[in-house]
Amino acid sequence: MLSQATVDRIIGSLVPDGLLDLLELESSYPARNLPEGAEVMRVPPSPTGFVHIGTIYASLINERIAHQSSGVFILRIEDTDKKREVEGSVEQIISALKKFDINYDEGPDVSGSYGPYFQSQRQKIYLAYAIELLKKGRAYPCFASPEELQAQTKKQQAEKIRPGYYGQWAIWRDKSDEQVNQALDDGKPFVLRFRSEGSHNNRIQYTDVFKGKMDVPENDLDVPLIKSDESRLPTYHLAHVVDDYLMRVTKVFRSDEWLPSTALHIELAKALGHEPFTYGHFAPISILDKNGGGKRKLSKRKDDEADVRYWLDAGYPIEAVKAYLLGLANSNFEDWYRDNPDKSVDDFPLSLDKLAASRAPLLDMTKLEDYAKDYIARLSQDEFYDGIYRFAGEEFKLALEQDIDYTKKILGIERGGEKPRKDMSKWSQGFDQYGYFFDDLFVKDFKTQGAEEFLSDLSSDVIDTAVTDFLETYSADDEQSIWFDKLKISAEKSGFATDNKQYKANQDSFHGNVADFARILRVKLTGKNRTPDLWTIMQIMGVDRVSSRLGSN
Ligand code: GLU
Repeated sequence: MLSQATVDRIIGSLVPDGLLDLLELESSYPARNLPEGAEVMRVPPSPTGFVHIGTIYASLINERIAHQSSGVFILRIEDTDKKREVEGSVEQIISALKKFDINYDEGPDVSGSYGPYFQSQRQKIYLAYAIELLKKGRAYPCFASPEELQAQTKKQQAEKIRPGYYGQWAIWRDKSDEQVNQALDDGKPFVLRFRSEGSHNNRIQYTDVFKGKMDVPENDLDVPLIKSDESRLPTYHLAHVVDDYLMRVTKVFRSDEWLPSTALHIELAKALGHEPFTYGHFAPISILDKNGGGKRKLSKRKDDEADVRYWLDAGYPIEAVKAYLLGLANSNFEDWYRDNPDKSVDDFPLSLDKLAASRAPLLDMTKLEDYAKDYIARLSQDEFYDGIYRFAGEEFKLALEQDIDYTKKILGIERGGEKPRKDMSKWSQGFDQYGYFFDDLFVKDFKTQGAEEFLSDLSSDVIDTAVTDFLETYSADDEQSIWFDKLKISAEKSGFATDNKQYKANQDSFHGNVADFARILRVKLTGKNRTPDLWTIMQIMGVDRVSSRLGSN
């Protein structure tokens, strides 16, 4: 045990302008006045680059649990690693949560009485707790240089010994007063380390909300609590234990990469005289490796889908993405969603039991696309318009606004009936699917797209004749069946087969069959090979537009 004088000297060097009083501090974080059973949950992302879809997944789960129980959901920014911090990340986190309509009750941009919600602004608080541990003999300064520590790790690896700073490897754990004072005199940098009292040979038991009964070795690592650099910021371990205590968090749900540190966090909480937290570790979203590497964690480096921007930029409807993520968390979500077509995903009662039972959730983009298609197909006319409009570029926006009645007819194609169209999964497809209806956009962007080859394989005489024959009898007043009869007649007249058997038996004597004839019209009208029903398109375009598009070269 270090002498009082040495401890005081360390304190003086850590907090030259005074130490916070713990009792006073704790009195400013009183018990929350919440109904029985209300959960206080949090998500603490680090601002180190783009927002991971896993952060949205974790936020969604925590937010649901908090709000379902009339509790509180907190966003806390874990900005204690200043070297890894990337400018603008905090804004990105906030904006992603807003876009996903995940509302936090307390956070960096929402006032709350349990803040500050940036860890970098809580530095004095962590120091107060770290010093409390120092005073109790449960923390000590460690002056080992990074090179020394690396050499130790190398040795452990070479000798196949469990890695870490513990037992005989905890070289500063039992240094004398003189040695510590000498190091201080020499101005050596130091971290403040936890003094573990655990033994790797003993086991502890606790219950994880998702993983059930756990039985693991005690912690014996003397981990750093306060960093050695000038920032004197805490490590994750101390920050987690202090913040979740002061903020009165009731359940710590986090990704299972933290599972191996849980014994440490339990020991740390006890050393501070606190009740250990109730933990729930969930498996992070995984993906099937595209290069045949099997199932693995979604990786920031390898997978575009890891970045929330990928989802937002493509314009997947947020509600559908949330539905998909909830489906990953709870396998009964799909049934619930189908049985409750009038409800929003935010009404879904997330179940912890079901979450526990779900294994590492696997990202399946086809399934997500299906959710998105269903969702878009279900939208009302106005919601559909809004979705497309919000995602549209300047020109497309102008076109959509120009003649609202025309736009409404276009966006109404094959929607709203028993079997609505389900070919749109993201808003970015709106332009491709509807843009050709607008003359300016059609001329500029659709004229030759993909369909050019089909037309260029036919002689211009054949095309001209087909168009002329069609226009000769075309009337916008014709019902679909009459229109189709007439189309067949003009196809025949232009040298296209109307009888498929005949056509198959004698292909060379025809320019093609009726479908090919219709395709000439379709490509000339829309620039596309595939579109909704041609009669409907002509009805909406109107006779002038139809004539002018078919008549032009
Ligand atoms: N910043 C940590 C992470 O993003 C937070 C883990 C936790 O939920 O405590 O992994």
